[in-house]
Amino acid sequence: MDKIQMKTPLVEMDGDEMTRVLWQQIKDTLLTPYIDLKTEYYDLGLKHRDETGDQVTIDSAEATKKYGVAVKCATITPNAARMEEYNLHEMWKSPNGTIRAILDGTVFRAPILVKGINPYIPTWEKPITLARHAYGDVYRNTELQVAAGSKAELVVTDAQGNETRALIHQFKGGGVVQGMHNLDGSITSFARVCFDYALDTKQDLWFATKDTISKKYDHRFKDIFQEIFDEEYKERFEAAGLEYFYTLIDDAVSRVIRSRGGFIWACKNYDGDVMSDMVATAFGSLGMMTSVLVSPDGAYEYEAAHGTVTRHYYKYLKGEKTSTNPIATIFAWSGALRKRGELDGLPDLCRFAGILEQACKDTIEAGVMTGDLAALSTLAEKRVVDSEVFLAEINRRLAEKL
Ligand code: NAD
Repeated sequence: MDKIQMKTPLVEMDGDEMTRVLWQQIKDTLLTPYIDLKTEYYDLGLKHRDETGDQVTIDSAEATKKYGVAVKCATITPNAARMEEYNLHEMWKSPNGTIRAILDGTVFRAPILVKGINPYIPTWEKPITLARHAYGDVYRNTELQVAAGSKAELVVTDAQGNETRALIHQFKGGGVVQGMHNLDGSITSFARVCFDYALDTKQDLWFATKDTISKKYDHRFKDIFQEIFDEEYKERFEAAGLEYFYTLIDDAVSRVIRSRGGFIWACKNYDGDVMSDMVATAFGSLGMMTSVLVSPDGAYEYEAAHGTVTRHYYKYLKGEKTSTNPIATIFAWSGALRKRGELDGLPDLCRFAGILEQACKDTIEAGVMTGDLAALSTLAEKRVVDSEVFLAEINRRLAEKL
């Protein structure tokens, strides 16, 4: 069989620890035998980030802007212990944070569903994709503890020097106070990315805030989403048979729990932080959670939602076999290859991505799985295998289907 050809390279961002080991195995076993794989390689492993003063992270994000599609391996975000372990020059920032800031992107997380691994909510038949606004609110707050007898006010000085004041609270006893902000520009690009992604993936979009209580702040989010929708997306949604649905956050939560899934749930920053973990947990395993960062000008960066699986890596270093789940990382590759195929008009590449994903699902549904999945699977017969055997089993089914 001739290998599938590519036109434009994928931006390949290599990473750390166990996921770095899997990264190479996935390429060797499932990709390069079938695809004439074109990538522009950036080594985001912590050692190389340190050697380049983190320039490699910035370069990889710029390359993503240039080419439009990237695939990223999980990476270590250094803390004090990692400073010592890797003898780092600096406590480099989270690569995901750096890349997200450069691309001004929104992260969409979605679970991979397979038979036998059932969500805790029995009605959830289809994935729920969670989109989290990644700017402002409580994450960029200013807060103070205040003494009894204090008066707290909100003061805004406009460009002409005029002050607007509003009383927050006259404190009889001690207490706390906080100020937060968001930006029309950031909310607008969040809204556009969500509407675009809904059209791209053919799913309804839900958005919710607490605008009945927060009549200016949250209401601004609601208004911006509605304006952008009415002016730019309404007709395209109608043509595609899709719905934009706004409701209160508490109503959204109860509807989500009773839903069948199959939609995108856009959340403000804090709601997204909490709800994405709830949705991920309720769907099952971190090893089955995908993530894609989408920028307002249409660049995509695909990755697994989990980290570098450090605990398994230390076992691997001791020469032990590990049963680490590669599925979310494989889906990062298939997602990126499919998008590259769509952009470059390469149906064979898109078809390959679909077959690869199906081979992964078929393997698990046949009862062959990694340890994390076996702990959740309701299949009567299951066989726990190490990552290498698991990849070989996926490859056997992939080769048959191709
Ligand atoms: P982790 O996701 O690596 O592991 C969390 C837990 O989930 C562990 O118990 C692990 O065994 C299990 N798990 C996760 N993925 C699994 C898989 N594919 N197969 C089997 N089990 C899996 O997160 P952590 O332990 O908090 O962090 C480890 C490192 O990863 C840290 O250095 C952190 O900075 C980094 N991290 C990176 C990203 C990213 O690059 N997107 C995200 C989170 C954490």
